[in-house]
Amino acid sequence: MQKHLLEEEHKMFQDAVKAFMEKEVAPHNKAWAEQGHVSREIWQKAGAQGMLCMDLPEKYGGMGIKDFRYNAIVGEELAKVGASGPGFILQNDVMAPYFTEYFTDEQKERWMPGLISGDIISAIAMTEPGTGSDLQAIQTTAIDQGDHYLLNGSKTFITNGILSDLIIVVAKTDPKSQHAHAGISLIIVERDMEGFTRGKNLDKIGMKAQDTAELFFNDVKVPKNNLLGKEGQGFYYLMRNLPQERLSIAATGCAAAEAALDMTIQYCKDRKAFGRPIGKFQNSRFALAEMKTEVTIARTFVDQCIMELNKNKLSVEKAAMAKYWVTDLQCKVVDQCLQLHGGYGYMSEFPIAQAYIDSRVQRIYGGTNEIMKEIIGRGMGF
Ligand SMILES: Cc1cc2nc3c(=O)[nH]c(=O)nc-3n(C[C@H](O)[C@H](O)[C@H](O)COP(=O)(O)OP(=O)(O)OC[C@H]3O[C@@H](n4cnc5c(N)ncnc54)[C@H](O)[C@@H]3O)c2cc1C
Repeated sequence: MQKHLLEEEHKMFQDAVKAFMEKEVAPHNKAWAEQGHVSREIWQKAGAQGMLCMDLPEKYGGMGIKDFRYNAIVGEELAKVGASGPGFILQNDVMAPYFTEYFTDEQKERWMPGLISGDIISAIAMTEPGTGSDLQAIQTTAIDQGDHYLLNGSKTFITNGILSDLIIVVAKTDPKSQHAHAGISLIIVERDMEGFTRGKNLDKIGMKAQDTAELFFNDVKVPKNNLLGKEGQGFYYLMRNLPQERLSIAATGCAAAEAALDMTIQYCKDRKAFGRPIGKFQNSRFALAEMKTEVTIARTFVDQCIMELNKNKLSVEKAAMAKYWVTDLQCKVVDQCLQLHGGYGYMSEFPIAQAYIDSRVQRIYGGTNEIMKEIIGRGMGF
C-alpha cells in the first residue's frame, strides 16, 4: 500500500510480516512446490505472529480490528517473496468474513481460536466438476434429515483442499426450489467426517506450492449445528462476501506486478548487451516506463478500493473492475518483464519465471475476468 495510507501500527505490522516472510517462508518456497503443499507448521507460526484472521475478536486471539490494510500487508509481503504456497490470504480475506458475520456463539467458541492460531486451516468449496461460473447450477445437495443434513456431491479446484480442516461447502438444501439460488446453503464439513474424502492434489501449471484438490461427499451426515448462517441464504452470503475476495485478488496482483517490475528494473541495470546496460536501450526504457505508469495507476486504484472497503462503501462493480483490470495488467507486466530477462527469464530458477506461471490463474479464479465484465455491464443496466 502507499505509505501515506499506513499509520504507525500498520508500519510495525508490515515490518514484522516482511521479516516473517523473508525468514520463515521464502527459504521453503522450492521445497513446498516440490511436495505440492506447505507445512502445517508454517500456519501455526503465522498464527503465533498474529497474521491470521486479524479481524476476529480479541477474545479468541484475534486483533478484533476490521481494517483491510492489515490483510493487504500480508498479501503484499507474500507476493514480494514470490510465495504462492501459504493460503493465508484465503483464510484472512475470503474466509474470515464468513466467520465474523455468520458463526453462532457456539461455532465461534469451537473454531475461532484454531482459525486464528493456524491449527485450523479453512477452505471454501463452490466449484464443481460441471459448473464454476454458473454457481446456481451446482448439484451438491444437503438434505434435511431432522438433526443432520445428508450431504452428497463433489467439488473441484479447491484451494487448501488437501490441508484444510474446516470447509464451507456450498450445497442445495432445497434442490426443488423454483429460484435456483433460493435453495442454496453453506454447510461446514470437518476433516474427519465419515463419507468425506479428498481426491489427489491436482497437478497445476503454476502455484505449485499450494494444494488444490477435488472433494467428495458421499452420504456425509453433517450435524445441524454446522450450518453457517440461515438455511437458504447461502447465495446471498456468497454475493455479499465476493467483493472482498475480488479486491484481495486485485491487491495481490498489484503487489506481484510491483515485485516483478522492481526485479526487472534491477536486471536491466545489471545485464549488459552491446556494451551497455539493457535498460539504456530506448525499447527497454519505454517498456519500463509504460509498466511503471500502469502499475502506479493500479496501485492508486487498489488502495482507493481498500479504503472504500474499510468504510463499507466498495461496490460490487468496482471490486469487479479491480479484479479484472489489475490481474490482466499483472499478466501483461510479468510477460513483458520476462521478455526483458531474455533467456534467463525462461529459466525456472529465476523469480520472474515463477511470477509468470503463478500469475495466470489470477484471471480465472474468484470469478473469471469475463464474469467480472458481466457484473460491470449489469451495473450499467444491461
Ligand atoms: C488454482 C485454482 C484455485 C481455485 N480455488 C477455488 C476454491 O478455493 N474454491 C472454489 O470454489 N473454486 C476454486 N477455483 C475454481 C474457480 O473459481 C473456477 O475455475 C472459475 O470460477 C471458473 O469456473 P470454471 O472453471 O467452471 O469455468 P467455466 O465456468 O466453465 O468457464 C469457462 C470459460 O467460459 C467463460 N464463461 C463462462 N460463463 C460466461 C459468461 N456468462 N459470459 C462470458 N464468459 C463466460 C469463462 O470466463 C471461461 O473463460 C479455483 C480454480 C483454480 C484454477
